[in-house]
Amino acid sequence: MVEKIKMYRFGFRLEKPFVIALGAIPSVEVAIVVIEDDKGRFGIGEACPSWRITGETIDTAIGSLEALAPMLLGEDPLRIGYLVERMDSALLGNPSAKAALDIALHDLAGKILGVPVWKLLGGHSPGPVSTDYTVGIDEPEGMAQEAARLVEEGFREIKVKVGEDPERDLERVRAVRKAVGDGITIRIDANQGWSPQEAVWVLREMEPFRVQLVEQPVPFWDLEGLRYVRERSPIPVMADEAVHSPRDALRAIRAGAVDYINIKLMKAGGLHRAKEIAAISRAAGVANMIGSMVETDIGATAAVHFALSEGNVRFRDLDTGTDPNSFLIAEGGSYIEGGMRYLRDPEAPGLGIKGIREELLEPVAEYRR
Ligand code: MN
Repeated sequence: MVEKIKMYRFGFRLEKPFVIALGAIPSVEVAIVVIEDDKGRFGIGEACPSWRITGETIDTAIGSLEALAPMLLGEDPLRIGYLVERMDSALLGNPSAKAALDIALHDLAGKILGVPVWKLLGGHSPGPVSTDYTVGIDEPEGMAQEAARLVEEGFREIKVKVGEDPERDLERVRAVRKAVGDGITIRIDANQGWSPQEAVWVLREMEPFRVQLVEQPVPFWDLEGLRYVRERSPIPVMADEAVHSPRDALRAIRAGAVDYINIKLMKAGGLHRAKEIAAISRAAGVANMIGSMVETDIGATAAVHFALSEGNVRFRDLDTGTDPNSFLIAEGGSYIEGGMRYLRDPEAPGLGIKGIREELLEPVAEYRR
């Protein structure tokens, strides 16, 4: 039974600001929740709000958690589907706050049952799994150098941020392909930066550089535009900002607007809804990517478990939680090495997070039954 829920804030500055078509991200603020049961077992979760994408700030996420957390007190933490539905009926939207509680419930449930979350959710693979690493928007030459450095580190898949200006974006992709050679997978993400017409032009021009897929070429609200691009582009189209929930996924698939869908726990509202998006996608023959916001290693570890649980996840963008300033896990969790993501202990119950650096966290609230 859920006995106690603790809520914290944590802010970190990135060593290098992350630049995408939507703007620069110099620093991040997250909320961390710890759900404790009546036997002293605990589950950890993270809310990483993104005002650009989910419309949440750290303050609104904490406000949502203040409304949602008390609803879980006294409840059976194994009834996750029921609790997720209760949260959705109590408050529309606010998916990162819901994700924090959903992730913490899965961690706790795994510990109660003695199984890791990736097995609790389907058990596709114990890992390790390959992941891409993202090169943020910069001068083409700087991006090419960064991509070459990542390949040297062992990454075989590079995600290139574009969407600033079609002509320069073409130069970016040309420079990166030249720097990494033929054997490396390149995928690109325009973060809504092009019009449908610009997207069709630039994607056709990019064909010789063998781009695996393009994420969100057009604004999130323009499903017709996404379909227009998909029907004319030689490069497959993936929805990211256009699909948050299972309903969004169904709508995008019905509209014929997507080849692939990028799932993020912070858009979906956690692991439970993320699995539903994967089920809808699989039924439609649409493969998924697992991505993330700029999160701490707690959110990153939850995303790794999702990736390992689910066979429909074909693309992994699991480079989050790798900035040293974002490390909250003291023991356990996951790590990146040689272009692969590993769980430190794939058989550890729950998320396998054995301790967090609580001294870095600012306590915000505590709820007891
Ligand atoms: Mn994206």
